[in-house]
Amino acid sequence: MNDPNVGRIVVETEELQNRIAQLGKEISADYAETPPLLVGVLKGAFMFMADLARAIDLPVEFDFMAVSSYGSATRTSGVVRILKDLDLDISGRHVLVVEDIVDSGLTLAYLRKNLAVRGPASLNVCALLLKDGLQRRDPDLRYVGFRIPPAFVIGYGLDAAERYRNLPYVAEYTGPEAGR
Ligand code: 5GP
Repeated sequence: MNDPNVGRIVVETEELQNRIAQLGKEISADYAETPPLLVGVLKGAFMFMADLARAIDLPVEFDFMAVSSYGSATRTSGVVRILKDLDLDISGRHVLVVEDIVDSGLTLAYLRKNLAVRGPASLNVCALLLKDGLQRRDPDLRYVGFRIPPAFVIGYGLDAAERYRNLPYVAEYTGPEAGR
């Protein structure tokens, strides 16, 4: 893309699709006896969720949550607000949370705690991207797409001020506020 705010490509389209196909196979095998309820974390995970779900060969169900982390545009504070809660009751369900990216791990730690008290039969997480070296606590991810270096990234669902979500690859963001 001819946009000075879009930097180096971190994960190419084809790498994304290949890895997602693998993840779909793994999930299909692991959950063969217990088809999961996929819980997508909006908005960032919408594209990953759509592709991952099509790679899973099981009768899955879907729900979505929208959360926002307080903090600056490119850094989270760990204080999470639920903007949209689940529609479904997850008690007794095998829940697989589908996340776009884990950075400090604080958002996920909050989500996990919030969902665990609702009594799911199991609760696991599939994150497309995991940033190296920044987690303050063990993120305990059952499935990870890619480990990436700790730069702010955009594309494939991830935004900078609501833009760039439709890029078909993941790239470094080099625009205003980058690197803060
Ligand atoms: P954490 O709480 O793990 O530090 O951050 C998780 C959330 O912050 C993600 O769900 C995502 O919304 C946002 N986030 C973290 N790193 C990035 C990034 O590099 N790019 C974008 N666009 N969002 C990020």
